Amino acid sequence: MKIVRFLSDDGRPRHGRLTEDGRAHPLIGDLFDHPTFAAETMPVTTLLPPVEPPNIFAIGRNYRKHVEETGARLPEQPLVFLKPTTSLLAPAGTILLPNAAPNEVDFEAELAIVIGRVTRQVPANRALDAVLGYTCANDVSARDCQRNDKQWSRAKGFDTFCPIGPCLVTPDEFDPDRCAIRTRLNGEIMQEANTEEMLRPCGELISFLSHQFTLLPGTLILTGTPAGVGMARQPPRFLRDGDQIEIELDGIGILRNRVSREAGG
Ligand code: MG
Repeated sequence: MKIVRFLSDDGRPRHGRLTEDGRAHPLIGDLFDHPTFAAETMPVTTLLPPVEPPNIFAIGRNYRKHVEETGARLPEQPLVFLKPTTSLLAPAGTILLPNAAPNEVDFEAELAIVIGRVTRQVPANRALDAVLGYTCANDVSARDCQRNDKQWSRAKGFDTFCPIGPCLVTPDEFDPDRCAIRTRLNGEIMQEANTEEMLRPCGELISFLSHQFTLLPGTLILTGTPAGVGMARQPPRFLRDGDQIEIELDGIGILRNRVSREAGG
C-alpha cells in the first residue's frame, strides 16, 4: 500500500492510504501500531512529507561508482551523518539556494527507509522487519560547505535540503535491494542506477545504525547516492534558480521539486 501525509480540505494534516485516483482513505489510530484506514475517501489537497521523523540519519559513499567519481576512498564501515529535521521538505516544496552558500548546491537521489518501531541492536537478517515503508529522498548538499567544513552538518543541513516523498510504500509491495533509481534535472537524466549496486544493503545499514543508536518510530534513513551528481560532471552542474529536479524510484513514484533563490540576504 502507498501511504501519504496530506492536508485535507479542512486544513488538517492527516495520514491516509492512497487510492488509484489520488484520493486517500484517512488513517484511523496510530500509523506505527497496526494502522487501519477508513472506508471512505477524501481529497488530497497538499502533500506533506510522509513522516515527521524524530531523527534523520544518512549514509555516505554507499555506491562504488559514486565513491570513484568523488575521488574518495571506500569506507571500511558505513559512513553515518545526520541531517536536521528542519531540513525536511514536502514533496512539491521548493528547494532554496541558501544565501549563506548558494553557488554549489547539488542533488543526490536516494532510497529512504522509514523505521516502524523502536529498534536497538537488530541483526541484519531481521532488520527489514523494523521497516514501516520506503520513500524517495534528495540529499541536497552544498559542496563548497562540504569541502571547506570537513564535516557535513552545514552542507547537508540547510532548510529545504531534505525533500522526501511523494508517499511511503509498504515493504510487502517493495524490494529495497532491487529498485531502479534515477534523477532528472529539467527533464535530463543525471543519475541512473539500481539499489542492488549499494555497497551495503538496507538490512545491513539498519543493523549497523541500531548498534550505535536507538531507532525510534518514524526515523528516516537515507541510504546513499549513485554516480552522476552535479559536482562530478564535466563541467559541474549545480542547481540554479528555476530548475526542476526529480528523484524517481520505480514502485514508489517521483519526488519533484523546484529550485529557487532564498529571499532576503
Ligand atoms: Mg547522500
